[in-house]
Order: sequence, then structure tokens, then C-alpha cells
Amino acid sequence: MRIHIVSLFPEYFRGPFDCGPVRIAQKKGVLEIAFVNPRDFTSDPHRTVDDYPFGGGPGMVLKPEPLFQAVESVLQPDSHVVLLSPQGTMFHQDLARQFSQLPHLVLICGRYKGVDERVRLALANTEVSIGDYVLAGGEAAAVVVVEAVARLLPGAVGDEDSVASDSFAAGLLDAPYYTRPAEFRGLVVPAVLLSGDHAQVARWRRCQALLTTARHRPELLRNQVLSEAEREFLSLELGKEEPDGQKEGNRT
Ligand code: SAH
Repeated sequence: MRIHIVSLFPEYFRGPFDCGPVRIAQKKGVLEIAFVNPRDFTSDPHRTVDDYPFGGGPGMVLKPEPLFQAVESVLQPDSHVVLLSPQGTMFHQDLARQFSQLPHLVLICGRYKGVDERVRLALANTEVSIGDYVLAGGEAAAVVVVEAVARLLPGAVGDEDSVASDSFAAGLLDAPYYTRPAEFRGLVVPAVLLSGDHAQVARWRRCQALLTTARHRPELLRNQVLSEAEREFLSLELGKEEPDGQKEGNRT
């Protein structure tokens, strides 16, 4: 897979792409990341990439010409162009999975007040947001997208089964994990995890995943098929909790 990042600040990516699955995916040749700087597609002596907004108001807007030329310089018939923007579709695991199956992704990072509207209208195939907050630029969003996509590429993560059990992979949040020691500051690891009974462990993890999802993201359960026993387990466990949610697992 190839990813082009269109950014005025390619140096921003030096750290995050040099470690973990993103580095491994590149090393193994399953991912190629390259940068395109719109500033290299300007023709005036000041290499101007932004301008005042028509109609007035504060802030600067990224001009269309350098952005169009930057994207068009790497565009292939199979490219998918994504504009990173707080106004886009919310990024989620399923979108990461869809992106990971594409041959070529182009991520456009805006800055300042954003990009000229014609970039959204005539250049981008999709507009993607990483959350309901406003960043200074699309670079941090591009890091999020690239990291979520890279770890789904073959060989990027040591144990691919691990990816399959992560939160959202099966539409649920993940189960809790413990490692040694079996007791830490009086907190003991659930006995079933020490039992060596794999079927029991799998059942426990499934129930805990359901419980965590019901506590933190109940809307995700709507798409799940639950057995009678699982339904009973959930209503029993949730019934034990205070109505205002002031119980274990409430981390805010
Ligand atoms: N005026 C714009 C915000 C511009 S922020 C608005 O209110 O919608 C500058 C740039 O940062 C954007 O063009 C976009 O590329 C990026 N950005 C900011 N927040 C983002 C988010 N939540 N998700 C993805 N990109 C974001």
C-alpha cells in the first residue's frame, strides 16, 4: 500500500512514523509513505500557500492551486483522496479496515482556517475527522489514520490474532488484560485467567468484553447477537451497579 501525505510540515512526521507497526510495515515493504509539500507547487517568489478569506474575517485559508497541483502530482487512477477535516465523517475502525485494503491513499492536511472549499468539492473523495475537536492542522489526524491503517497490514503487528481481538474488531470493546504478578497491592487477577482452561478463559473474555461495552459504549451492543446466558450475565452485572454509574469501570 502507498500513502502520500500532503502537508506543509513534512518534518512533523519524523518521530511517529519511525516506530512501531508503521516502521515495521515500511521495513517489510507492505507500506510506502511519501510526502508532498504544497509549497513546492507555488510559482511566486514568496512561495505563498495561503491567502485571506473572501468576504473578510480572521485567519488564512490554504489556496487551491498548490493543493490541487500537489495532489495531482501523485494521483493515480486507483488513488483515494482524503481531506482531513473536523467536518468530515468520524474515523472509525471499519474505515481503517477499508483504507487498509486500498492501493493508494492521499491524505490532505489543512492548516490555519482550513482549505479552500474547492479542495473538498473537486479534489477529495472523502472528508474524515478524527474527533469533535479542532486541531491546529491535519498532521496529527494523518498520524492517527496512518497508524490505525498500518497495524492492519500483513506483518505489521507480530501476532495478527492480537489485532483480531482488539476493541472494535468484532464490534465490541476489548476484554481487560492482566500480566504478572498475580497479586499486586492487594488486587488479585481473576482466578479463571490462572486456571489454564482455555474454553473458560474465552468465555470469560467474551463476557467481560460485553460488560465493558455495555458500560462504556452501550450503543455498540445493538449490532451484537447475544446468547441467553450472555444476556442474563449482563443484566445481573449491570443490575449490581449504582444507577448513576458510580461503580467500578467508571474512569472519568
Ligand atoms: N475552520 C475549520 C478548522 C480548521 S483547523 C473548522 O472550524 O472546521 C485546520 C486544519 O486542521 C483543518 O483544515 C484540518 O485539516 C485539520 N483538523 C483540525 N481538526 C481536525 C479533526 N478533528 N480531524 C481531522 N482534521 C482536523
